[in-house]
Amino acid sequence: MIIAIDGTVASGKSTAARRLAQRLDYLYINTGLMYRGVAAYCRQHGIPTNDQRAVALHVKFLAVDLRNEPDGQHVHVNDHDLTAAATAPDIGAFVSDIADNPTVRDVLVRAQQRLGRAAGNAVLEGRDIGSVVFPDAPVKFYVDADVRERARRRLADDIKKHPALTLDEVEAATRARDERDRTRPVGALMRVPDAILIDTTHNAGPDATVDQMLAHLAKSTNPIRPINPIRPTDDCHA
Ligand code: C5P
Repeated sequence: MIIAIDGTVASGKSTAARRLAQRLDYLYINTGLMYRGVAAYCRQHGIPTNDQRAVALHVKFLAVDLRNEPDGQHVHVNDHDLTAAATAPDIGAFVSDIADNPTVRDVLVRAQQRLGRAAGNAVLEGRDIGSVVFPDAPVKFYVDADVRERARRRLADDIKKHPALTLDEVEAATRARDERDRTRPVGALMRVPDAILIDTTHNAGPDATVDQMLAHLAKSTNPIRPINPIRPTDDCHA
């Protein structure tokens, strides 16, 4: 049973996906962290992320694994834990280059399919899960929220490190990331017709989003019920 979760940046999809997986006892697969891992590897090895041919040559020889650790999911590239570099605040533009690269997408999509199939029960979260990675997934969610609200959430996260940041600046950056995600030549963010829209604009937190998802799962023809009643409160990286 594969649950596909796609959505816009800062919509709350990552935390909700991870908690949903915990509630159901499914494997959680954060696909964005894999793109981040490749970007971190390229930076460490002096491979320009915008040189599509150079990156394509290297990515075929990379083993990109996700491992669950007590503090969340980690990404390992060729057995090196690159999580810190992969989630560094200045990695964004480099990850976007990597995510635009068709060869990288080809390699990572296959890896994600292998991980999902091997797990049997998995929640995969990203931008192209319902459209490309698992187009036949029986349950698909598309998570979104009003752009101003998403900018508010990002500002709340970033303000300590960047006290001068304004809401307008964060909203402009959020719109720019949306645009780049939606217009990517391959694996573009989209809401596929069979995806259930989860609007988190007015949700107080991730648990409300998980509850919305569980309510939809309970209504589906093959109801899936949570087996983990405890709600974890830890947070994830990406
Ligand atoms: O979700 P997160 O912000 O960690 O994703 C990192 C980058 O990878 C983003 O630029 C996002 O657009 C891209 N991505 C992607 N396809 C996925 C998951 C993430 O292109 N399935």
